[in-house]
Amino acid sequence: MNGVADFRARELLDLTAHEQAAALRAGEVTARGLAEASIARVRAQEPVLNAYITLMDDEALAMADAADERLRAGNAAPLAGIPIGVKDLLSTRGVKTTAASNMLRDFTPIVDCTVVTKLREAGAVFIGKTNLDEFAMGSSTEHSKFGVTHNPWDLDRVPGGSSGGSAATVAAGGVPLSLGTDTGGSIRQPAACCGIVGLKPTYGRVSRFGVIAFASSLEQVGPFARDAEDAALLLSAIAGLDPLDSTTAPVPVPDYAAMLGRGLDGLRVGVPREFFVDGMEPGVREAVERAIDVFAANGAIIDRDVSLPSVAAALPVYYIIAPSEASANLARYDGVKYGYHADADTMWEEMELTRGQGFGDEVKRRIMLGTYALSTGYYDAYYLKAQKVRTVIRREFAAAFASHDLLLTPTAPTVAFRLGEKVGDPVAMYLNDLCTIPANISGNPAVSIPCGFSEGMPVGLQLVGGMFEEGTLFRAADAYGAVAGWKAQRPPIYGERGR
Ligand code: GLN
Repeated sequence: MNGVADFRARELLDLTAHEQAAALRAGEVTARGLAEASIARVRAQEPVLNAYITLMDDEALAMADAADERLRAGNAAPLAGIPIGVKDLLSTRGVKTTAASNMLRDFTPIVDCTVVTKLREAGAVFIGKTNLDEFAMGSSTEHSKFGVTHNPWDLDRVPGGSSGGSAATVAAGGVPLSLGTDTGGSIRQPAACCGIVGLKPTYGRVSRFGVIAFASSLEQVGPFARDAEDAALLLSAIAGLDPLDSTTAPVPVPDYAAMLGRGLDGLRVGVPREFFVDGMEPGVREAVERAIDVFAANGAIIDRDVSLPSVAAALPVYYIIAPSEASANLARYDGVKYGYHADADTMWEEMELTRGQGFGDEVKRRIMLGTYALSTGYYDAYYLKAQKVRTVIRREFAAAFASHDLLLTPTAPTVAFRLGEKVGDPVAMYLNDLCTIPANISGNPAVSIPCGFSEGMPVGLQLVGGMFEEGTLFRAADAYGAVAGWKAQRPPIYGERGR
């Protein structure tokens, strides 16, 4: 690339994906130029951020060249040539997929997951596989076998988790878009910690085929982006019924872009009191209150008299159901079929060593919790009871959406905490997901959007929508973002800033 084109590509990398898409179509930049700029920026930042487990330079450039051909032919999809980061929990054919675990450190899938297939078809350019907590269990990305990811706003703090790498690289301007998964908050909480947009779709909206399973009844793949329009663009590309995942819903994917630009006027917004917990950081509360004022000033109808009493039980319910499902899903890692293998004299010894050395402490903790909750004699007391409470929580959400378009809450009770602060105290770590877990229990879609700062760190505002009402979330996020001026918000580690 020559100097001028190089400069232009770097400038364009600062724009959103939809702006980049327009520049690609106008011939202002090539997909290859954009990919090279993204790779250079990501590589400059990696020594301080550690947002990626695997960089995919060669594949990225090949994908970019293919996108350029389609762009020249004039038949390119909206995401053609757009650089994207992919959480390393999503299977990529021929590219290592580790789940940040010793168990899968050398695992190369022979198939793509459905969302990756869809993005390949759309002409997107994969820059690399992003860092996460091992098997997506955690809220800080500290439980990764490949080292922690640092928050671009403050390198001494966590980026959130489990999709911390995906959030950090978008916040730092390495890529405009990335994919995460959210089982109990793993898209929304890191989005909040890093000051960007992150959306968990309705359960069944996006295929989970080929996504390394943690808790199958709770998780969804979803987008990270710097604005609502980009998040809508990415969700449009990955959503929909998939014959390979029988839990995807036969619900048509609406035109999300058509929901943008409609403002907040007339939206009925409930503010459920249970999400404003004791111990919430005062700065977070203030930022969320100011956001509520903005919603009200722009025509939203705010209802503060909303209660979902059983939401208080969501966290304990989650820590029965998620570990139970995890203990079943992770039973497949026996050192025989694929993944890490330790040699020993007998089969049982081999399995013990393989699982003992392959899994990290947090994963083992979840497997033990789940195995206990599912065991004879305890199943009824724990698992069955948790499922019953789950039904009650679902009904409370459904009732709330009979008279509201949105529920508005903080995304997390605090801003991003310091590295090491909670890693030795699992319960403190779990409590950070208090506000995000309820929407996984109920299945409702929810988005985290930036709503100001506390202690110099970004605060996340959570909007929860009715089932399959992602469009309403995009509408509200887009309108609020226009008022809040997200574009001007850049972390200290941004662009070519690295070591
Ligand atoms: N932090 C939660 C957990 O540790 C949620 C993780 C996730 O959403 N994948 O289980």
